[in-house]
Amino acid sequence: ASKRRGKNCIEFFNIDMQREALRLMLLEEDLRHALAHRQLALAFQPIVNLEHNRVAAFEALVRWHHPEQGLLMPGHFIPAAEQSGLIVPLGYWVLRSVCQGLVARIEAQRDVVPVALNISPQQFRDKHFMIEVQAILDETGVPPELLEFEITESTLMDNLAATIDILNALKVLGIRISIDDFGTGYSSLALLKQLPVDTLKIDRCFVKDIGEDEEDRQIIQAVIAMSAQLHLEVIAEGVETQAQSDLLYAFGCRRVQGYFYGKPVIGAIPDTQPLPQPVL
Ligand code: C2E
Ligand code: MG
Ligand code: MG
Ligand code: MG
Repeated sequence: ASKRRGKNCIEFFNIDMQREALRLMLLEEDLRHALAHRQLALAFQPIVNLEHNRVAAFEALVRWHHPEQGLLMPGHFIPAAEQSGLIVPLGYWVLRSVCQGLVARIEAQRDVVPVALNISPQQFRDKHFMIEVQAILDETGVPPELLEFEITESTLMDNLAATIDILNALKVLGIRISIDDFGTGYSSLALLKQLPVDTLKIDRCFVKDIGEDEEDRQIIQAVIAMSAQLHLEVIAEGVETQAQSDLLYAFGCRRVQGYFYGKPVIGAIPDTQPLPQPVL
């Protein structure tokens, strides 16, 4: 396992922790300002159904147009947002924006597919989480079945009793739930069975070397088999090549997301047609 982590799965390595702490403090002040001054944006990346060759959904991913530093990616500021608690209002901004975008498409009679968005650990544990979600649904009038909340495996496993209550409440509203970065945490099959989730998203570190690494291939096959048993959808993340896509298809995976099918694009929720052309 440590070999795996060293190889692909950890994004922060070789950093000076103290400098990082200072950078986060400085960013926090800017981020507070960003939330109030419309510097955040969403990028949308397609999730493609290989069976029908159609866009099945989009994932919304936050971006920050920093006035001095330019376009910042989430890996750069989400840690600061988590540390300061600003991730909570940021998360509600994302949810509200996605809902407004979906309603705008419905009103304009454009095609609509569900949009997935990421819920941070802190937001998921926020006392007012369900109240806020309900308020945003009411305020925007979005059909809840067009929303999919992505929550990481470790967040869900943190306090299982509380997790199950929240997930059940989301289910009652009609919101779909995915386990993000699946395979990097510690979920046992027994735990997984207790959770009312719809989808497992296989972390991209398992997809990366699927062509060469027998162990990764076995993990992916096991996850796909398990998903079928539990009647869960499975999405493979980080698909960058035709070869990876073909292997995943052969293993029974029908939904994929990755640069091969389309990078995240900043703007409004895109049309589902034409299908983004695979990058060859
Ligand atoms: P994630 O939810 O697992 O999102 C997938 C990440 O993988 C995105 O990075 C996406 O651009 C990237 N990706 C997609 N396809 C490929 C590929 O083929 N190859 C490679 N190398 N990467 C690919 P991004 O946008 O930088 O986001 C990183 C993480 O930041 C997300 O991981 C998620 O955990 C977090 N994040 C993004 N937006 C939000 C948000 O609105 N709220 C919260 N709480 N977290 C967010
Ligand atoms: Mg995600
Ligand atoms: Mg993920
Ligand atoms: Mg990830």
